[in-house]
Amino acid sequence: MQAVCWYGPHDVRVKSVPDPYIEDSEDVILRVRLTAICGSDLHIYGGFIPGMKKGDILGHEFLGEVVEIGSAVKSLAVGDRVVVPFAIACGRCVSCRRDLWALCDNSNPNAGTLDTLYGASGSGLFGYSHLYGGFSGGQAEYVRVPFADIGPLRLPPHITDEQALFLSDILPTGYMAAENCELRAGDVVAVWGAGPVGQFAIRSAFLLGASRVIAIDRIASRLDMAVAGGAETIDFMQEDVYDTLMDLTGGRGPDACIDAVGLEAHGSGSALARYDRVKQAMWMATDRLQALRQAIHACRKGGVVSIPGVYGGFLDKVPMGAAFAKGLSLRMGQTHVHRYMAPLLAHIEAGSIDPTFVISHRATLADAAEAYDTFLKKEDACTKVVLRP
Ligand SMILES: [Zn+2]
Ligand SMILES: [Zn+2]
Repeated sequence: MQAVCWYGPHDVRVKSVPDPYIEDSEDVILRVRLTAICGSDLHIYGGFIPGMKKGDILGHEFLGEVVEIGSAVKSLAVGDRVVVPFAIACGRCVSCRRDLWALCDNSNPNAGTLDTLYGASGSGLFGYSHLYGGFSGGQAEYVRVPFADIGPLRLPPHITDEQALFLSDILPTGYMAAENCELRAGDVVAVWGAGPVGQFAIRSAFLLGASRVIAIDRIASRLDMAVAGGAETIDFMQEDVYDTLMDLTGGRGPDACIDAVGLEAHGSGSALARYDRVKQAMWMATDRLQALRQAIHACRKGGVVSIPGVYGGFLDKVPMGAAFAKGLSLRMGQTHVHRYMAPLLAHIEAGSIDPTFVISHRATLADAAEAYDTFLKKEDACTKVVLRP
């Protein structure tokens, strides 16, 4: 089959590789119908994720048709069209039974390495390095899906592939970021990063009762998309983020702040932002922190800072004093996609959210290398690329 393989920083290639096969009785094999490149794939593309090996197949956002079934799988049949959560979960460990699917204790065979690095490991992930289990990803013609009775969600025929694809990650991720804000009617929410996750966080915040959402980014097309979703905007290259947020909230600060930036953050040129970039280039820090620092500084007393963006390693110069003095709640972590897929599918069916608006580029799997480059450089107003095998 053809698959998008990682060969090094800024080097992905579409290669012929062996087809996946049933390795465990709870597996299914999918023929991939549609897949996407995620902002977090750019972390791998940029060389910021350790534990990659040459030839690893990328991709954790995909949807497909079941073509082969392990002997223990009860809930799926050949021909079913399913969308698959990016996090792999067993469904029976302590974490899974507490509805904390992305913290599954059983699905990452390499959990010991992450335990050593970070003191803990979450679940296995598709296409996301050997630290997260070395599972082949879905940017391919076929993919093996473990624990197939637990993750995949069968799709009704009237929902299109494009409508359903983002149930795999970014729609639940944006939704959980907003849900973690514990919003009350009338709340004001600020969202750093108007990429796809930020866009879904904006719309979810309104669904959950926010009266105003303020989106912070520097890319005009993304700010326009935020405005279309009902948000006010701050271009951080033009305006001082803190001062503007205070002006917009009567000097109090937003009730909740969402850092939907993660590793892609592009600081506003301050000394601290440059410091982060130097450290990142030297592998001394794996994150850029400007957005998180601003979120903590700007959030109102007693508010919530919600962090869906990926963080790893150790955070430097995080203003813990401000967070403590203001009694902030910090909510974070990998998305428990399994928890959100069915209710969000119901929202899509009801028409209360149509996730397809984030798609800016449609390409074939064969064009993946070019698509990664376009997405990384944010050229051509690139917000989200979907690939059809
Ligand atoms: Zn993703
Ligand atoms: Zn589990």
